[in-house]
Amino acid sequence: MRILIANDDGIYSPGLRALADVARRFGEVRIVAPDVEQSSMGHAITHSRPLTIRATAIGDHAAFRVNGTPADCVTVGVADWGNVDVVLSGINLGTNLGNSIWHSGTLAAAKQAPLLGLRGIALSSPTADDPPDFAALTPWIDQVLDLLIMHDRCPLVNVNFPTVPRGMRWTRQSVRHYDGRVVPGHDPRGRPHFWITTVPLEPPEEGTDRWAVEQGWISLTPLRLDLTDETALAEAERRNPT
Ligand code: MN
Repeated sequence: MRILIANDDGIYSPGLRALADVARRFGEVRIVAPDVEQSSMGHAITHSRPLTIRATAIGDHAAFRVNGTPADCVTVGVADWGNVDVVLSGINLGTNLGNSIWHSGTLAAAKQAPLLGLRGIALSSPTADDPPDFAALTPWIDQVLDLLIMHDRCPLVNVNFPTVPRGMRWTRQSVRHYDGRVVPGHDPRGRPHFWITTVPLEPPEEGTDRWAVEQGWISLTPLRLDLTDETALAEAERRNPT
């Protein structure tokens, strides 16, 4: 079992190390991660310049840093290592729930796996002022990987941990609406700038990823790459046959 581990927080993230330390119980682990933080980069890829892959000391793990995006790391890592069975991404410092899947670099690294015909698992944890207590989460990380690597065969799963888990739940993606708030301000030289932020407008729907984490469950959401809206397609074909 070859397990490639990427992330979007960068190769020196404590979440990446915590994930690799648990994942090695399930197979041979190799870390291939961005050399600097790439959070909220989404599924960007680098095609206008070559990428480098350089060995880096992360404990006693085989680890390499890449000067590219999260998705780049998976593409280059799989090509360089070969015969990869599953790609893990994370553990992100911050949850990736609901609509954040659209811009998450953590999800993008996991999504790159099914694009290459492999299984992908994204893992994220909440952050407040302090980093998550990964030592306390370790038994839960072990349970999640045992389920998703050894027993279930979902091609792509989005995993989110609460601060103190009470168990695991299969969930759907929350699609509650955001207020795309833009907060204007001024830099130290007096020039105007803008901070982009999002505020949820609606409470989470029961059975969704956001609901589960708020209730203290580890959320496991199987995802698909086909974004086709089947209902809208059927209605459009009925209204305006082509
Ligand atoms: Mn991140």
